[in-house]
Amino acid sequence: MAEDVIIIGSGPAGLSAALYTAREGYNPLVITGFPAGGQLLLTNTVENYPAFPDGVQGSDLVELMRKQAERFGTRFIIDEVVDVNFSSKPLKIKTASEEYQANCVIIASGASSNWLGLPSEQKLIGKGVSSCATCDAPFFKNKDVIVVGGGDTAMEDSLFLTKFVKSITIVHRRDQFRASKIMKDRVLSNPKIKVMWNSALEEVLGETSVVGAKIKNLQTTEITTLEVQGVFIAVGYTPNTKFLVNKLKLDEKGYIITKDEVKTEIKGVYAAGDVADRVYRQAATAAGSGIKAAIEARTYLQNLHYKKRA
Ligand code: NAP
Repeated sequence: MAEDVIIIGSGPAGLSAALYTAREGYNPLVITGFPAGGQLLLTNTVENYPAFPDGVQGSDLVELMRKQAERFGTRFIIDEVVDVNFSSKPLKIKTASEEYQANCVIIASGASSNWLGLPSEQKLIGKGVSSCATCDAPFFKNKDVIVVGGGDTAMEDSLFLTKFVKSITIVHRRDQFRASKIMKDRVLSNPKIKVMWNSALEEVLGETSVVGAKIKNLQTTEITTLEVQGVFIAVGYTPNTKFLVNKLKLDEKGYIITKDEVKTEIKGVYAAGDVADRVYRQAATAAGSGIKAAIEARTYLQNLHYKKRA
């Protein structure tokens, strides 16, 4: 029998959608994805989620949301969706081992961090190259590291790394950061952090572990070699929509194209959070869009059940 609501993803968007649909009595099924909890698990203190004046750990925030959704009857499957079939009703959702059916689907599969794609970067992932400072910073105690990027993630990663490493050089391709002012100011006033502006990582040096990095000045083309033992990549995110290619309209970057905020072109299929958000990409905005998707889902399901009874 088809579920009323399946929610794909378990970050703030998915868990907020679960809370709302659960409170409406739809007994939602969340297929969590990996890691269950999403990107908040890869962050440390979240200072900008309303209602936490002293900040909250990302993992604690997700856990609180999960418990709240569970209290009203949300069920969780720890698995990853690999395919969908939205061409007929009920909608079909496949993981590697199971197929599920649903009257309504809320896609909240989030986004994953990007790499630069340099062969030397790829070769040394896990051997000194990382895209998760929160996960890996303790391995770099008293080491020298670089962080590539100029957004909030690069700022947050750099500030977190200051608790562990000896020095940080941020390598950024332009002459200003795109990060929020408060984060920029903290970074620029931290004595452990230097910035190389207008610069790009050309090559990560080392065979079995990182021993250095070649940095190119994009204005002068001059190459500088830094002796570093760690390279943190913080150059944005790509939406997790591989399983939706040719199933839903995606834009050129892979974001789900929505109308009226959370509706996809298929009735009963909604998108919430980073998977469809090119602009805001905050935990709180993701939660808000999960709630919007749940409200749309409720209207859709009410009509569907009314028609079935009539
Ligand atoms: P982002 O805002 O997209 O910034 C990515 C950064 O990487 C930009 O500075 C960009 O340079 C640079 N970049 C992209 N591709 C590159 C390449 N191929 N080579 C070199 N540099 C490259 O991504 P993000 O920092 O991960 O943040 C994502 C979203 O999450 C944002 O909305 C952010 O506000 C939010 N966030 C918020 C917090 C917080 O509030 N505490 C923390 C983390 C993230 P350009 O600037 O030149 O484009």
